[in-house]
Amino acid sequence: MNTVPGVANKLQDITASMSDYNPNALTVQQAQDIMRAYIQPVCGIEKLTIRQALGRVLATDITSPINVPAHNNSAMDGYALRGEDLADGQELKLKVTATVLAGAEFTGTVGRGECVRIMTGALMPAACDTVVPQEFTTKISDDKIRISAGSLRAGDNRRLKGEDLAMGTIALHKGKILTPADLGLLASLGIPEVSVQRRLRVAIFSTGDELRSLGETLESGCVYDSNRYTLYGMLMRMGCEVLDMGVVQDNPDALEAAMRSACENADAIITSGGVSVGDADHTRQLMDKLGEVAFWSIAMRPGRPMAFGKIASAGKSAYLFGLPGNPVAVMVSFYFFARQALQQMSGAEITPLPIFSVKSNADIRKRPGRTEYQRGILSVRADGELGVSITGSQGSGILRSMSEANCMIILHDDQGNIAAGEKLSVLPFAGLI
Ligand code: AMP
Ligand code: MG
Repeated sequence: MNTVPGVANKLQDITASMSDYNPNALTVQQAQDIMRAYIQPVCGIEKLTIRQALGRVLATDITSPINVPAHNNSAMDGYALRGEDLADGQELKLKVTATVLAGAEFTGTVGRGECVRIMTGALMPAACDTVVPQEFTTKISDDKIRISAGSLRAGDNRRLKGEDLAMGTIALHKGKILTPADLGLLASLGIPEVSVQRRLRVAIFSTGDELRSLGETLESGCVYDSNRYTLYGMLMRMGCEVLDMGVVQDNPDALEAAMRSACENADAIITSGGVSVGDADHTRQLMDKLGEVAFWSIAMRPGRPMAFGKIASAGKSAYLFGLPGNPVAVMVSFYFFARQALQQMSGAEITPLPIFSVKSNADIRKRPGRTEYQRGILSVRADGELGVSITGSQGSGILRSMSEANCMIILHDDQGNIAAGEKLSVLPFAGLI
């Protein structure tokens, strides 16, 4: 990984500057703040055609080289006229002298009491500033129309040159993640190629002697490794390149070899399992050897233990996110910590999670002093408002609760029990997973 030169934050300096830092009792907000202060964007730019750039991070501001639209034009099919001909409270009769089609230019004149038939997008004749839509007119004869009183004001139904984008203004900002609308916007400016940040490379592996990979026999006491698949899905949705390193056995040598190889080949490493209190000791020693990694216990459920920092090997470095092993905890920690950190690494503007406030359909028990993430189903209630219900069992190992849910319910740190009808924060999955 190459990061912006000259900025080398130390994790220790950041945590030392916080008066209330306690790695064994960190709030979600504190953990997010430390990550934000620590992460530096990864450097690397490539030039792509605008179609290839969909979902990528724009590396430069895009300045409009032209006015959009390039000329004043009609917003309607109808008749272009001189606004000064309109008189308050009076109907207007006009003589139709010509027709202007889209893409054609009308060079004639339009006198007082005259108008020209005009199509949507066609250039406005020089003397005209107003368009009356076809449906507001009555035909009196082949070349005469009537506009009823009060149906139109001067300047109506005309698009002004540069009103969408004026030449020289910034059309798209550096750091924007390009959407379908942005591709269209770039095309409308005549721009075929843009500079984007390179994709992040993220290495993933799972730790745990009980884990089996797909295709292997499941002996008693073993489980299939599902975390690498949810992580793969979430990373792909974020536009990352995924380096899947499989399952790594719970022993220091295997772990060191995997960490070094991941570090040498990726910008970030996401592991699952092996960070809870019972497991963490040998991992801690290894991390002290490879870099600076903090082991945290975060006041949240699920997902309490987490390791975060940076390691180095053979002159390369990579950020490390050591997530807990439980399948739901992995997803929760990814969305609430890793997602923003990866966005920051990729040079993207940070888009806050789209969190909404909706009514709870039932009472929910909650202990103040930790953040709880429950899986929910969001739907429209009989009263027409959005409401949310909890999906069955909320155990942190129950991936089915995540699969059945269409949103995550966020019960904040200081919140206590919730009564039916009270408002809650929810994060809809649509567009996220
Ligand atoms: P750990 O954080 O390693 O103590 O793991 C907590 C729980 O999550 C245990 O029940 C593990 O079997 C389970 N687990 C850990 N890693 C995975 C994985 N990659 N896929 C599925 N389950 C896992
Ligand atoms: Mg384990």
